[in-house]
Amino acid sequence: FDDRDGQIWFDGELIPWRDAKVHVLTHGLHYASCVFEGERVYNGSVFKLTEHSERLVKSAEILGFKLPYSVAEIDAATNLVVEAQGLTDAYVRPVAWRGSEMMGVAAQGNTVHVAIACWQWPSYFSPEARMAGIRLQTSKWARPAPNTAPTASKAAGLYMICTMSKHTAENEGFHDALMLDYRGRVAEATGANFFMAVGGKLHTPTPDCFLDGITRRTVIGLARQRGIEVIERAIMPEELKTADEIFLTGTAAEVTPVSRIDGLTFTPGRICMTLMEDYERLVRGAAVTDVAAE
Ligand code: PMP
Repeated sequence: FDDRDGQIWFDGELIPWRDAKVHVLTHGLHYASCVFEGERVYNGSVFKLTEHSERLVKSAEILGFKLPYSVAEIDAATNLVVEAQGLTDAYVRPVAWRGSEMMGVAAQGNTVHVAIACWQWPSYFSPEARMAGIRLQTSKWARPAPNTAPTASKAAGLYMICTMSKHTAENEGFHDALMLDYRGRVAEATGANFFMAVGGKLHTPTPDCFLDGITRRTVIGLARQRGIEVIERAIMPEELKTADEIFLTGTAAEVTPVSRIDGLTFTPGRICMTLMEDYERLVRGAAVTDVAAE
């Protein structure tokens, strides 16, 4: 991934892709003092750019460090790198981390670095898998409690359990893992939020120990515009068998139907397909009003 042409915005300037390197004694690498974002470019503009930049700044604040750039500067830097890469449909990865001056648990004085990369990445799950629905395996790892880890931050350290869960699921023939939380409730997939349709209504877990995704809020807004009731509540895994439809939402995953969770099977249905289409129209700038839920 590091050996390719292109440019990356790194601490204030565009530099060649191959030169965008950090030292091996970087605090972010050893102690996970690192936060990131995932954004998508549709028709040349980043969808909900400012919300993502704001979340990046907030994620760092939660970890106790301050970015040396304002939200407006991060927005501008993102637009610069997207333009420099010449991409109209792409994925954007901003990342911020503590540098290498001090090597130890404490690193109060370390320089904070920010980089933004952008590349072509059409689909998170393959288009075939997306339409047929993806298969999820329940992970043995639980989403931690909010007083165990900074669960409202898009912190790199939280993705350790996601990568382990997703690898196990993939190695056993699934596309992704379903993660329960520390109370045994349904939480989310490893990089996307969870929805289930029961009797024409949508149910989604209350995001009190995982990210309240930007796509999640967008899709709740789209559903309500369609007159579909959306209920945020605690969902237990025993309830999954009552679902008519299940789908995931995320910047990368967009709206992706789920066809299987462990031994249970589901068929992508009307609600999921409608929201997939509405989401596609919205991100492509068509005449769909965005009334994302607060
Ligand atoms: N949960 C996790 C663990 C994620 O990584 C993501 C992707 N950022 C989401 C949920 C969905 O968030 P969003 O819709 O803001 O991309």
